[in-house]
Amino acid sequence: MNIHEYQAKQLLKEFGAPVAEGVAVLDAAEAKAAAESLPGPLYVVKAQIHAGGRGKGKFKEPAAGEKGGVRLSKSPEDAAAQVKAMLGHTLVTKQTGPEGKVVNRIYIEDGADIDRELYLSVLVDRASAKVAFIASTEGGMDIEEVAESTPDKIVTVPIDPLGGLTDADAAKICDALKLEGDAKADGMALMPILYKAFVEKDMDMLEINPLIVMTNGRLRVLDAKMSFDANAEYRHPELESLRDETEEDPSERRAAEHELSYVKLDGNIGCMVNGAGLAMSTMDIIKHYGAEPANFLDVGGGATKERVTEAFKIITSDPGVEGILVNIFGGIMRCDVIAEGVLAAVKETGLSVPLVVRLEGTNVDLGKQIINESDLDVIAANDLDDAAQKIVAAVQG
Ligand code: ADP
Ligand code: MG
Repeated sequence: MNIHEYQAKQLLKEFGAPVAEGVAVLDAAEAKAAAESLPGPLYVVKAQIHAGGRGKGKFKEPAAGEKGGVRLSKSPEDAAAQVKAMLGHTLVTKQTGPEGKVVNRIYIEDGADIDRELYLSVLVDRASAKVAFIASTEGGMDIEEVAESTPDKIVTVPIDPLGGLTDADAAKICDALKLEGDAKADGMALMPILYKAFVEKDMDMLEINPLIVMTNGRLRVLDAKMSFDANAEYRHPELESLRDETEEDPSERRAAEHELSYVKLDGNIGCMVNGAGLAMSTMDIIKHYGAEPANFLDVGGGATKERVTEAFKIITSDPGVEGILVNIFGGIMRCDVIAEGVLAAVKETGLSVPLVVRLEGTNVDLGKQIINESDLDVIAANDLDDAAQKIVAAVQG
């Protein structure tokens, strides 16, 4: 689960991190009073969407003005005008894709006098199997370019999970950021705060870009992107209120409600598979034969007819799907249940694209019989290779 910048900052503040004062608004009418409650004289008006690159983003609608999603204002009146301009409009950034994201919330924040912009993130580094800090002096809006052209300017500091973050680790990170004096003292205090917040809240990513050194020599968290490990959500009922459903893919939400693991992708072949490994290899083989999967979908080991029906409906509701491959190995899952689920779903939604079904395992004969005896226009396949070739041919032919 991802949350907004202002929520991430609030959470970091509760752990003791230095963040600016700010107020989130959902309605332009609240904006002026919100800005007036801040110290000024500089106000920063920041579009809240679950994507970065807002500063350099562009709005689709001319009414929002030429400026990006992070705007400086010198008065509460102007801050309110910027809020009004951005609210309800679609911001396109490098991270939103061309369709952009509608701005429904705006954060008005006290402006900072910036001396240096640094990059700092905390993530789960799968290579070392540790939580790691990534630090660079080259923070700000071009970190992707830094990573590409001068990767030596990015320092990784893995943290031993048994000992936790030590003073030596914090010092290493501060050195990588070239912090001195007050900023170094702030950095030595900040690193354990970030590590504690990361571990306690089961985050899988925390990105502070930029972390700034202000002209007064102190550190401040100026931007924050935070996401939490979905598998640990049950341990954090307190985070549920931070969820913004308008930011989530409706198909993925619907899938989660039915306990299906579904990830929407950009291809044209919808896949219904049981087991994550089989789903991955199904996607691989579709690519191997020259097409692209439209989704990852694992219906799980003990799926019911209802769940299979729901899965099928989710796949067919994606307008990008030009063909469907059902690839099921019946272990715990029985092939006849799958077959009935597919039939029930097709009865409800109709079937306007080619469908290839490959079944193997428990009750496979019964499953095949159910499909064959229906009047469904199904292409039967004998194995995974055969199935992939048939669906790719059906879509491309
Ligand atoms: P994004 O990464 O989505 O573009 P940021 O929050 O990083 O958004 O803001 C972009 C830039 O705007 C920052 O790199 C910084 O230069 C400036 N900025 C953001 N917030 C403030 C602030 N409170 N005071 C001064 N400048 C800011
Ligand atoms: Mg940023």
